[in-house]
Amino acid sequence: MKKEFFIGIDLGGTRIKLGLVSNNTILDKKIIPAQSSKGLMAGLPLLEDSIEMLLTANHVRDSELKGIGFGFPGLVNHKTQKILSTNAKYDDALNINLNSWVKAKWNTNFFIDNDARLASVGEWKFGAGKDTDNLVMMTIGTGIGTSVIMDGKLVRGKHFQAGCLGGHISVMYDGRICTCGNRGCIEAYASTWSLKERIEADALYKQSSLSNVEVIDFEALFTEADNNDALSIQYKNDCNELWSVAIVNLIHAYDPEVVVIGGGVMQRHEELIPPIIEKVYQHAWTPWGKVDIRASQLSSDAGIYGAVYCLQHDI
Ligand SMILES: [Zn+2]
Repeated sequence: MKKEFFIGIDLGGTRIKLGLVSNNTILDKKIIPAQSSKGLMAGLPLLEDSIEMLLTANHVRDSELKGIGFGFPGLVNHKTQKILSTNAKYDDALNINLNSWVKAKWNTNFFIDNDARLASVGEWKFGAGKDTDNLVMMTIGTGIGTSVIMDGKLVRGKHFQAGCLGGHISVMYDGRICTCGNRGCIEAYASTWSLKERIEADALYKQSSLSNVEVIDFEALFTEADNNDALSIQYKNDCNELWSVAIVNLIHAYDPEVVVIGGGVMQRHEELIPPIIEKVYQHAWTPWGKVDIRASQLSSDAGIYGAVYCLQHDI
Protein backbone atom coordinates (compact mmCIF):
# COMPACT_ATOMS: atom_id res chain seq x y z
CA MET A 1 0.00 0.00 0.00
CA LYS A 2 1.15 3.52 -0.81
CA LYS A 3 2.25 5.40 2.27
CA GLU A 4 0.47 8.65 3.03
CA PHE A 5 1.51 11.01 5.78
CA PHE A 6 -0.11 14.11 7.22
CA ILE A 7 0.97 16.69 9.75
CA GLY A 8 -1.53 18.10 12.25
CA ILE A 9 -0.58 21.25 14.17
CA ASP A 10 -2.33 22.68 17.20
CA LEU A 11 -1.26 26.31 17.63
CA GLY A 12 -1.93 26.67 21.35
CA GLY A 13 -1.46 29.83 23.37
CA THR A 14 1.42 28.39 25.38
CA ARG A 15 2.55 25.36 23.38
CA ILE A 16 2.47 24.31 19.74
CA LYS A 17 1.79 20.61 19.27
CA LEU A 18 2.74 18.90 16.03
CA GLY A 19 1.93 15.31 15.08
CA LEU A 20 2.93 13.15 12.14
CA VAL A 21 -0.06 11.00 11.26
CA SER A 22 -0.56 8.01 8.98
CA ASN A 23 -3.59 5.69 8.89
CA ASN A 24 -5.30 7.67 11.67
CA THR A 25 -2.38 7.03 14.01
CA ILE A 26 0.05 9.57 15.42
CA LEU A 27 3.49 8.16 14.62
CA ASP A 28 5.57 10.92 16.12
CA LYS A 29 5.01 14.19 17.96
CA LYS A 30 6.76 17.41 18.85
CA ILE A 31 5.78 20.02 21.39
CA ILE A 32 7.43 23.41 21.13
CA PRO A 33 6.94 26.55 23.22
CA ALA A 34 4.61 29.12 21.68
CA GLN A 35 5.20 32.79 22.18
CA SER A 36 1.75 33.63 20.95
CA SER A 37 1.82 37.17 22.37
CA LYS A 38 4.83 37.91 20.14
CA GLY A 39 2.88 36.87 17.07
CA LEU A 40 2.91 34.07 14.55
CA MET A 41 5.58 35.39 12.18
CA ALA A 42 8.24 35.19 14.89
CA GLY A 43 7.39 31.54 15.45
CA LEU A 44 7.41 30.37 11.83
CA PRO A 45 11.15 29.49 11.58
CA LEU A 46 10.92 27.19 14.62
CA LEU A 47 7.70 25.70 13.26
CA GLU A 48 9.39 25.02 9.91
CA ASP A 49 12.37 23.35 11.64
CA SER A 50 10.02 21.21 13.73
CA ILE A 51 8.04 20.04 10.69
CA GLU A 52 11.29 19.22 8.87
CA MET A 53 12.58 17.31 11.90
CA LEU A 54 9.40 15.22 12.06
CA LEU A 55 9.60 14.40 8.35
CA THR A 56 13.32 13.61 8.37
CA ALA A 57 13.28 11.54 11.56
CA ASN A 58 10.51 9.37 10.12
CA HIS A 59 11.96 9.12 6.59
CA VAL A 60 8.92 10.73 4.96
CA ARG A 61 9.55 11.56 1.30
CA ASP A 62 8.18 14.79 -0.21
CA SER A 63 5.73 12.84 -2.37
CA GLU A 64 4.38 10.97 0.69
CA LEU A 65 3.38 14.12 2.61
CA LYS A 66 -0.28 14.63 1.70
CA GLY A 67 -1.14 17.67 3.77
CA ILE A 68 -0.54 19.97 6.73
CA GLY A 69 -3.52 21.01 8.86
CA PHE A 70 -3.63 23.77 11.49
CA GLY A 71 -5.86 24.42 14.47
CA PHE A 72 -5.76 28.16 15.19
CA PRO A 73 -6.93 29.90 18.39
CA GLY A 74 -9.15 32.47 16.69
CA LEU A 75 -11.94 32.79 14.13
CA VAL A 76 -11.16 31.11 10.83
CA ASN A 77 -12.89 30.82 7.45
CA HIS A 78 -11.92 27.27 6.52
CA LYS A 79 -13.19 27.77 2.96
CA THR A 80 -11.01 30.75 2.04
CA GLN A 81 -8.37 29.49 4.54
CA LYS A 82 -8.20 32.95 6.10
CA ILE A 83 -7.82 33.83 9.74
CA LEU A 84 -10.67 36.30 10.41
CA SER A 85 -10.05 37.47 13.95
CA THR A 86 -7.60 36.90 16.80
CA ASN A 87 -7.86 37.57 20.51
CA ALA A 88 -4.55 38.28 22.27
CA LYS A 89 -2.85 35.31 20.60
CA TYR A 90 -0.91 35.48 17.30
CA ASP A 91 -2.40 38.90 16.58
CA ASP A 92 -0.28 39.34 13.44
CA ALA A 93 -1.81 36.21 11.88
CA LEU A 94 -4.45 38.20 9.98
CA ASN A 95 -1.71 39.33 7.61
CA ILE A 96 0.00 35.96 7.22
CA ASN A 97 -1.00 33.57 4.47
CA LEU A 98 -0.21 30.19 6.04
CA ASN A 99 -1.45 28.38 2.95
CA SER A 100 1.17 30.14 0.78
CA TRP A 101 3.82 29.39 3.41
CA VAL A 102 2.96 25.68 3.39
CA LYS A 103 2.74 25.58 -0.42
CA ALA A 104 6.10 27.33 -0.84
CA LYS A 105 7.92 25.07 1.62
CA TRP A 106 6.27 21.67 1.09
CA ASN A 107 3.89 22.03 -1.88
CA THR A 108 1.19 20.00 -0.15
CA ASN A 109 -2.47 20.31 0.84
CA PHE A 110 -3.43 22.78 3.53
CA PHE A 111 -6.28 23.08 6.00
CA ILE A 112 -7.00 25.53 8.79
CA ASP A 113 -9.87 25.96 11.23
CA ASN A 114 -10.51 27.04 14.79
CA ASP A 115 -8.46 24.96 17.26
CA ALA A 116 -11.34 23.95 19.56
CA ARG A 117 -13.37 22.95 16.51
CA LEU A 118 -10.64 20.60 15.33
CA ALA A 119 -10.26 19.14 18.82
CA SER A 120 -14.00 18.38 18.80
CA VAL A 121 -13.64 16.65 15.42
CA GLY A 122 -10.82 14.54 16.87
CA GLU A 123 -12.94 13.49 19.87
CA TRP A 124 -16.02 12.92 17.67
CA LYS A 125 -14.25 10.68 15.19
CA PHE A 126 -11.64 8.95 17.37
CA GLY A 127 -12.20 9.77 21.05
CA ALA A 128 -14.78 10.47 23.75
CA GLY A 129 -17.60 11.36 21.32
CA LYS A 130 -17.42 8.39 18.95
CA ASP A 131 -20.89 7.17 19.93
CA THR A 132 -22.79 10.39 19.29
CA ASP A 133 -23.66 12.89 16.54
CA ASN A 134 -24.65 15.63 19.00
CA LEU A 135 -21.72 16.81 21.02
CA VAL A 136 -20.39 19.97 22.64
CA MET A 137 -16.74 20.24 23.55
CA MET A 138 -15.17 22.70 25.95
CA THR A 139 -11.38 22.95 26.12
CA ILE A 140 -9.93 24.67 29.17
CA GLY A 141 -6.45 26.13 28.70
CA THR A 142 -4.85 29.56 28.26
CA GLY A 143 -8.35 30.52 27.11
CA ILE A 144 -11.56 28.50 26.90
CA GLY A 145 -12.44 27.08 23.49
CA THR A 146 -15.72 25.43 22.55
CA SER A 147 -17.15 23.65 19.54
CA VAL A 148 -20.42 22.00 18.58
CA ILE A 149 -21.33 18.99 16.47
CA MET A 150 -25.09 18.98 15.86
CA ASP A 151 -27.01 16.25 13.98
CA GLY A 152 -23.71 14.88 12.67
CA LYS A 153 -22.52 18.23 11.33
CA LEU A 154 -19.81 20.54 12.52
CA VAL A 155 -21.60 23.79 13.39
CA ARG A 156 -19.87 26.79 11.82
CA GLY A 157 -22.57 29.42 11.13
CA LYS A 158 -22.84 32.27 8.65
CA HIS A 159 -19.60 33.94 9.79
CA PHE A 160 -17.69 30.85 10.93
CA GLN A 161 -18.08 31.70 14.63
CA ALA A 162 -21.01 29.51 15.65
CA GLY A 163 -20.24 27.19 18.54
CA CYS A 164 -16.68 28.34 19.05
CA LEU A 165 -17.36 31.39 21.23
CA GLY A 166 -18.61 29.46 24.25
CA GLY A 167 -15.62 30.79 26.22
CA HIS A 168 -17.21 34.20 25.78
CA ILE A 169 -20.60 33.29 27.18
CA SER A 170 -21.16 35.85 29.91
CA VAL A 171 -21.63 34.45 33.38
CA MET A 172 -21.68 37.89 35.04
CA TYR A 173 -23.43 40.84 33.38
CA ASP A 174 -21.40 43.42 35.31
CA GLY A 175 -18.29 41.28 35.50
CA ARG A 176 -14.66 41.57 34.48
CA ILE A 177 -13.84 43.01 31.06
CA CYS A 178 -12.65 40.21 28.80
CA THR A 179 -9.99 40.43 26.10
CA CYS A 180 -12.85 40.04 23.57
CA GLY A 181 -14.55 43.26 24.71
CA ASN A 182 -17.49 41.61 26.45
CA ARG A 183 -18.07 41.68 30.21
CA GLY A 184 -18.14 38.69 32.50
CA CYS A 185 -17.06 36.01 30.00
CA ILE A 186 -16.36 32.58 31.47
CA GLU A 187 -12.87 32.91 29.97
CA ALA A 188 -12.31 36.10 31.96
CA TYR A 189 -12.76 34.06 35.18
CA ALA A 190 -11.81 30.43 34.73
CA SER A 191 -9.05 30.19 32.10
CA THR A 192 -5.31 30.22 32.77
CA TRP A 193 -4.80 33.87 31.79
CA SER A 194 -7.65 35.16 33.93
CA LEU A 195 -6.97 32.86 36.88
CA LYS A 196 -3.51 34.38 37.26
CA GLU A 197 -4.88 37.95 37.06
CA ARG A 198 -7.65 37.27 39.56
CA ILE A 199 -5.44 35.54 42.09
CA GLU A 200 -2.68 38.16 41.95
CA ALA A 201 -5.29 40.88 42.53
CA ASP A 202 -6.86 39.04 45.48
CA ALA A 203 -6.38 40.67 48.90
CA LEU A 204 -5.43 37.26 50.32
CA TYR A 205 -2.81 36.48 47.64
CA LYS A 206 0.19 37.50 49.76
CA GLN A 207 -0.83 35.11 52.53
CA SER A 208 -1.38 32.26 50.10
CA SER A 209 1.24 29.69 49.14
CA LEU A 210 0.43 30.66 45.55
CA SER A 211 2.52 33.81 46.10
CA ASN A 212 5.58 31.51 46.16
CA VAL A 213 4.94 29.62 42.94
CA GLU A 214 6.77 30.61 39.78
CA VAL A 215 3.77 30.42 37.42
CA ILE A 216 0.15 30.54 38.53
CA ASP A 217 -1.73 28.04 36.39
CA PHE A 218 -4.23 25.28 37.09
CA GLU A 219 -1.50 22.78 37.93
CA ALA A 220 -0.12 25.11 40.60
CA LEU A 221 -3.64 25.87 41.84
CA PHE A 222 -4.54 22.20 42.22
CA THR A 223 -1.22 21.35 43.88
CA GLU A 224 -1.60 24.15 46.43
CA ALA A 225 -5.23 23.14 47.00
CA ASP A 226 -3.96 19.62 47.75
CA ASN A 227 -1.67 21.26 50.31
CA ASN A 228 -4.72 22.85 51.94
CA ASP A 229 -4.02 26.41 50.87
CA ALA A 230 -7.33 28.20 51.53
CA LEU A 231 -7.13 30.60 48.56
CA SER A 232 -6.29 27.75 46.17
CA ILE A 233 -9.23 25.69 47.40
CA GLN A 234 -11.51 28.71 47.00
CA TYR A 235 -10.44 29.39 43.40
CA LYS A 236 -10.48 25.71 42.47
CA ASN A 237 -14.10 25.42 43.63
CA ASP A 238 -14.97 28.72 42.00
CA CYS A 239 -13.59 27.60 38.61
CA ASN A 240 -15.46 24.32 38.87
CA GLU A 241 -18.66 26.26 39.53
CA LEU A 242 -18.01 28.59 36.58
CA TRP A 243 -17.26 25.74 34.17
CA SER A 244 -20.52 24.11 35.26
CA VAL A 245 -22.50 27.30 34.59
CA ALA A 246 -20.94 27.59 31.13
CA ILE A 247 -21.79 23.96 30.39
CA VAL A 248 -25.43 24.52 31.40
CA ASN A 249 -25.51 27.51 28.99
CA LEU A 250 -24.02 25.40 26.20
CA ILE A 251 -26.54 22.61 26.84
CA HIS A 252 -29.40 25.11 26.70
CA ALA A 253 -28.03 26.58 23.46
CA TYR A 254 -27.13 23.45 21.52
CA ASP A 255 -29.05 20.45 22.93
CA PRO A 256 -26.15 17.98 22.94
CA GLU A 257 -26.22 14.37 24.06
CA VAL A 258 -22.61 14.46 25.24
CA VAL A 259 -20.35 17.22 26.60
CA VAL A 260 -16.62 16.52 26.35
CA ILE A 261 -14.28 18.56 28.54
CA GLY A 262 -10.67 18.87 27.37
CA GLY A 263 -7.48 20.64 28.35
CA GLY A 264 -4.64 19.91 30.76
CA VAL A 265 -6.99 20.23 33.77
CA MET A 266 -8.61 16.96 32.75
CA GLN A 267 -5.58 15.07 34.03
CA ARG A 268 -7.63 15.46 37.21
CA HIS A 269 -10.93 14.42 35.63
CA GLU A 270 -11.71 11.90 38.36
CA GLU A 271 -11.99 14.65 40.96
CA LEU A 272 -13.15 17.52 38.71
CA ILE A 273 -15.96 15.94 36.70
CA PRO A 274 -18.25 14.57 39.49
CA PRO A 275 -18.92 18.03 41.03
CA ILE A 276 -19.51 19.44 37.51
CA ILE A 277 -22.01 16.67 36.81
CA GLU A 278 -23.77 17.36 40.08
CA LYS A 279 -24.14 21.09 39.37
CA VAL A 280 -25.08 20.66 35.72
CA TYR A 281 -27.74 18.05 36.52
CA GLN A 282 -29.13 20.37 39.16
CA HIS A 283 -29.52 23.30 36.76
CA ALA A 284 -29.81 22.12 33.14
CA TRP A 285 -33.27 21.99 31.61
CA THR A 286 -33.24 18.61 29.87
CA PRO A 287 -36.61 16.91 30.35
CA TRP A 288 -35.53 14.05 28.04
CA GLY A 289 -32.81 12.82 30.43
CA LYS A 290 -29.20 13.60 31.37
CA VAL A 291 -26.41 14.90 29.18
CA ASP A 292 -23.38 12.65 29.45
CA ILE A 293 -20.40 14.70 30.66
CA ARG A 294 -17.03 13.14 29.86
CA ALA A 295 -13.34 13.94 29.90
CA SER A 296 -11.47 14.12 26.61
CA GLN A 297 -9.88 10.81 25.64
CA LEU A 298 -7.30 12.17 23.23
CA SER A 299 -6.22 15.07 25.49
CA SER A 300 -3.65 17.23 23.71
CA ASP A 301 -3.72 14.99 20.60
CA ALA A 302 -7.37 15.81 19.81
CA GLY A 303 -6.54 18.85 17.67
CA ILE A 304 -3.90 16.94 15.71
CA TYR A 305 -6.36 14.15 14.90
CA GLY A 306 -9.05 16.69 13.98
CA ALA A 307 -6.76 18.67 11.66
CA VAL A 308 -5.68 15.53 9.82
CA TYR A 309 -9.27 14.25 9.59
CA CYS A 310 -10.34 17.55 8.00
CA LEU A 311 -7.48 17.35 5.49
CA GLN A 312 -8.91 14.04 4.30
CA HIS A 313 -12.65 14.73 4.56
CA ASP A 314 -14.83 17.61 3.49
CA ILE A 315 -16.69 18.47 6.71
ZN1 LIG B 1 -14.79 37.28 26.17
